[in-house]
Amino acid sequence: MSLDSQHDVVIVGGGPVGGALALALANRARSVLLAEARQDPVPGDDPRSLALSYGSRLVLERLGVWNQIAPSTAIHAIHVSHRGALGRAVLVAADAGVPALGYVVPYAALQRALRASVQKSPHVTLLLGARAAQITAAAESVCVQLEHRSEQRAVHARLAAITDGSMALEGLTRVRVRDYGQSALVTNVLTSKPHHNWAFERFTPDGSMALLPREAGFALVWTAAPDRVQQLCSLSARTFQAQLQSAFGERAGTFIEIEERTAFPLVLRIAERPTAARTVLLGNAAQTLHPVAGQGLNLGLRDAWELAEVMQTHPGDPGSTHVLTAYAGRRHRDRASGVLITDALVRLFSNNRLVLRWLRGCGLTLLDALPPAKHAFVQQMMFGRVF
Ligand SMILES: Cc1cc2nc3c(=O)[nH]c(=O)nc-3n(C[C@H](O)[C@H](O)[C@H](O)COP(=O)(O)OP(=O)(O)OC[C@H]3O[C@@H](n4cnc5c(N)ncnc54)[C@H](O)[C@@H]3O)c2cc1C
Repeated sequence: MSLDSQHDVVIVGGGPVGGALALALANRARSVLLAEARQDPVPGDDPRSLALSYGSRLVLERLGVWNQIAPSTAIHAIHVSHRGALGRAVLVAADAGVPALGYVVPYAALQRALRASVQKSPHVTLLLGARAAQITAAAESVCVQLEHRSEQRAVHARLAAITDGSMALEGLTRVRVRDYGQSALVTNVLTSKPHHNWAFERFTPDGSMALLPREAGFALVWTAAPDRVQQLCSLSARTFQAQLQSAFGERAGTFIEIEERTAFPLVLRIAERPTAARTVLLGNAAQTLHPVAGQGLNLGLRDAWELAEVMQTHPGDPGSTHVLTAYAGRRHRDRASGVLITDALVRLFSNNRLVLRWLRGCGLTLLDALPPAKHAFVQQMMFGRVF
């Protein structure tokens, strides 16, 4: 497929959402140009592990990449607690009637699997080292200006799908931003006890701590004020280990080995509308969430899958107002509840007022004690809908 031909869709950004969208469209015989700014979209330096829901597994299976992702560690149960007060909840896979609540996969392993499939697809042209600088929509098509190997290139399509992870392209849509005043520390740890495929989410007044089962150990995501995270990153391994133990407690055993620590800034960014003229925003480009509930990529994969579904049910021009309106309508509820749940969790659990501590404890106890509430919560987190 020539770079200069008119494509059905130009995808800007070859992260996991852009890669998944390219495959979902290619499986429906749409011609796709996927432009990725980096020369190598498989980052060796990104230590993030992602908790993918069972629903995301189903999407990746349909795209034919699930079996290519290695390593992947199943989550059979999640233990949720908060420090300094009573109340806790345990969610198990049987509550939702699925074999696992989710799976922990390294960001780089997911990218590797997606890239291999994209490169094999006859319907996708993958352009690496191509940074989109501007998008201009006209009546019949959209033009994306790319900087590629020090040259400017213009590519044309019926639809531009923005999956750049950042909303950096200006003027596409209005963006709402909330700075939580938090960063995330990410690392991998080994503990004295085997994890038996349990994940732990522990809320503290300073932020949340998630231990996700990852191969023989855990991936840790510890959120706190940015200067606290910087300080935690610069501690010696032994001092960090002691502080982690004191903050998390003994539930997962003794922390015995810690890998390199990396900090990520955290912010809530929401595009007011996920569509503009001949343009659609998906994944982090449409909504960048706090990682507390592990919803960001799960939501992004559903964005990608549903856009391909909408195009299938509305054949013809993929950038038409008809398609874009149908897509925005179909994604409205899932996007809104993903943002609402994540934002509420961050704000409710990072406040140390006595009454809120008490309410949190009651909430966790009720969630634990009421099977229908548990079922509804787990369905929302796994599939973005309550059956
Ligand atoms: C610490 C942490 C933990 C997380 N844990 C979870 C979790 O457990 N579960 C979960 O579901 N989510 C989690 N997330 C969120 C998840 O990482 C994101 O939702 C996901 O990476 C979004 O994918 P994306 O493809 O939209 O964007 P990205 O992963 O950011 O990819 C964007 C791509 O676009 C490229 N690009 C950027 N600008 C341009 C341009 N102008 N032109 C061309 N290419 C461009 C970039 O190089 C990149 O490859 C976590 C996030 C953090 C920070």
